Amino acid sequence: MPEHRDPADAPRPETTRPDTLGFATRQIHAGADRIDGHRPRATPIYLTAGFEFADFDQANERFVQSDDGYSYTRVGNPTNSAVERRIADLEGGAGALLVGSGQAAVSTAVLALAASGDHLVSASGIYEGSRELFRDNFSRLGIETSFVTEANDPAAWEAAIRPETKALFAESIPNPRNEILDIAAVAAVARRHGIPLIIDSTLATPYLLRPIEHGADVVVHSASKFLAGHGTVLGGVIVDAGRIDWTATGDRFPHLTRTPGSDGRTVAERSGRAAFLDYARANIALRQGPSPSPFNAFFILQGIETLSLRVQRHTESAQRIAEWLAEHPAVESVDYSGLPSSPYHALAERYLPRGAGSVFSFTLRGGRDAARTFVNAVELFTRMTHLGDVRSLVLHPASTTHVNRTEQERQAAGIGQGLLRLSIGLEDADDLIADLDRALGAVEAAELLERAGIV
Ligand SMILES: *Cc1c(COP(=O)(O)O)cnc(C)c1O
Repeated sequence: MPEHRDPADAPRPETTRPDTLGFATRQIHAGADRIDGHRPRATPIYLTAGFEFADFDQANERFVQSDDGYSYTRVGNPTNSAVERRIADLEGGAGALLVGSGQAAVSTAVLALAASGDHLVSASGIYEGSRELFRDNFSRLGIETSFVTEANDPAAWEAAIRPETKALFAESIPNPRNEILDIAAVAAVARRHGIPLIIDSTLATPYLLRPIEHGADVVVHSASKFLAGHGTVLGGVIVDAGRIDWTATGDRFPHLTRTPGSDGRTVAERSGRAAFLDYARANIALRQGPSPSPFNAFFILQGIETLSLRVQRHTESAQRIAEWLAEHPAVESVDYSGLPSSPYHALAERYLPRGAGSVFSFTLRGGRDAARTFVNAVELFTRMTHLGDVRSLVLHPASTTHVNRTEQERQAAGIGQGLLRLSIGLEDADDLIADLDRALGAVEAAELLERAGIV
């Protein structure tokens, strides 16, 4: 009897045709596990470390990977696989790998391409955890990173590329300042040099933007943010466009194209255009072990089922709140590319026709003191370092996420002492504006008292 399959209960016909179905339909149906004797409609949580082998020969088949059945959850798990198929579908990728966190996704993707002596080029305006991973951990492993400050200047990327460069890395919507990346411009540089472009698209989600459509080769996400969406579980995902002909990359990736495996073939010979993802799965994730729990995978899958509805609402509210903040006298500036005044507005219109996301920053005229008063005065916004939660969140980057940067680095990144980051949640926008109004009122009152010499 075939494993986990009731012979009296053949798999139901696949009803999803990704080419013809819309995003909202696919976010609910794509990749769902349809093979289970009890016909559960939701994908079950396969909370098991391992999977029984039917017999001697099947055990052998699992180990030589001549079938695609499951053996051990670090290698693969049906709940995790369902998340992988669904996100690959929504991003327009050929395949995906689910890992335990966004940081695991970034490190697994990079380590599947680069080794000691190799080099990366990254935009400098990236998530602080990724930046430190590159600067500290990877440099200790002998992988050096050059940072490009002008991420939308192709010449800056060109100038940083070396013979040993193995990947270009950037974020589609970097936080906190919502500075939209010109993905196609960077992808053109990557293509010219035969180097993969990895885009961290956590803040955009595939509902707002699909980097692969603009030339990215690999997309990574922190699924802990909008994909899971409710601020409960961590996860990360690597999506492979499956576009690169690895056999044509010369000596740049010898681990994929030169080193033969136990069957005498290289990864590129065995996997073709899936070589990167297969190597990331079987040689990096499997060994280093950033395995996701099927329990967390279930919450990510469930979160994705409402992704379009949530992101639509997040984004609409963010646009309204950014417009409201821009009019407030205590506010010096708002960094949101959805505003026509933003230098990134044209890029937002081109890449993000459904809205510029819901994570952005604004700067108070009163600097750090005003920021402290504001953060302490909010009642509905949560003081928290997270993004893409159903709850609205506020954070002061200069004293938290960016506290380890030098003042000079913060200034170069535009992170002033009066800058606050917002992640707009799903509450009623009127209530959020009332809370911001109250906190800005507290800032103004404190400044009046100070000017009058009362405090
Ligand atoms: C949060 C985040 C990460 C890290 O993800 P974790 O799931 O927290 O490990 C990476 N990149 C971006 C853009 C993020 O927002």
